[in-house]
Amino acid sequence: MYPGSFDPITCGHIDIINRASKFCNKLIVAVLVNKEKKPFFSFEERIELIKETTKDLDNIEVITFDGLLVNLFKTYDIDFIIKGLRAVSDFEYEFQMAQINKALEQRAETLFMMTSPRYSYLSSSVVKEIFLFGGEINNFVPPIVRKAMNKKKEMK
Ligand code: ADP
Repeated sequence: MYPGSFDPITCGHIDIINRASKFCNKLIVAVLVNKEKKPFFSFEERIELIKETTKDLDNIEVITFDGLLVNLFKTYDIDFIIKGLRAVSDFEYEFQMAQINKALEQRAETLFMMTSPRYSYLSSSVVKEIFLFGGEINNFVPPIVRKAMNKKKEMK
């Protein structure tokens, strides 16, 4: 299972999904519902964009979760959690989360994948910031995500 807020899905996420899907028989992408009070995209929109951008892979399932990640272990047959690491700064938080999850649920093992260097600086929040200030995000998100962001901006 690969959890995150995916608000929106970026090329960095897609890179992890592509690479992880090769060693998982099934990869569940789990979209966190309530982390931010005001997300850019609703969870339905985020799910749709994840499905669209990963449609060439045949072993992806996209779900949402609200609250504790470890609760998903009750409903799904999960072997491990996959997280991406971009920089040392990610490590501290992810280290804590991995240990908390393990403390809450014995089966919750976390595997870390290193970012591809070309995406090491990429996060959803950076993409949103650049976009909202009118910057070019073509290299950071797939065209379909950029289009959805433009549409959303017009509606706001
Ligand atoms: P973000 O940090 O971009 O807001 P999420 O909270 O949705 O994204 O992150 C979900 C997971 O994806 C986390 O494990 C995060 O470290 C990882 N991730 C996000 N962006 C990248 C990237 N550019 N390269 C590798 N992993 C990434």
